[in-house]
Amino acid sequence: MSLSELQKHKLRGWLKSKNVHPTCVSCGGTDWGAGEIVSAPILDTDGARLEDSHVPMVQLVCTNCSYLMLYAAVPIGLP
Ligand SMILES: [Zn+2]
Repeated sequence: MSLSELQKHKLRGWLKSKNVHPTCVSCGGTDWGAGEIVSAPILDTDGARLEDSHVPMVQLVCTNCSYLMLYAAVPIGLP
């Protein structure tokens, strides 16, 4: 799911409030763009997918090399 302009604003505000200024581990760049909200399934101890359980994450994408960073979306207030 693409971020709306309001969600991008919320993400930028959250990153600023946490003093997050990431450096890209791939190229050393410091310019990032908002990507998508993605979701990963939660697995039980046997590796089976739990029904209706997932972890939403928001992508930060390096504008130089497209390396991706993921942040938990819920604490940021992004559904
Ligand atoms: Zn990069």
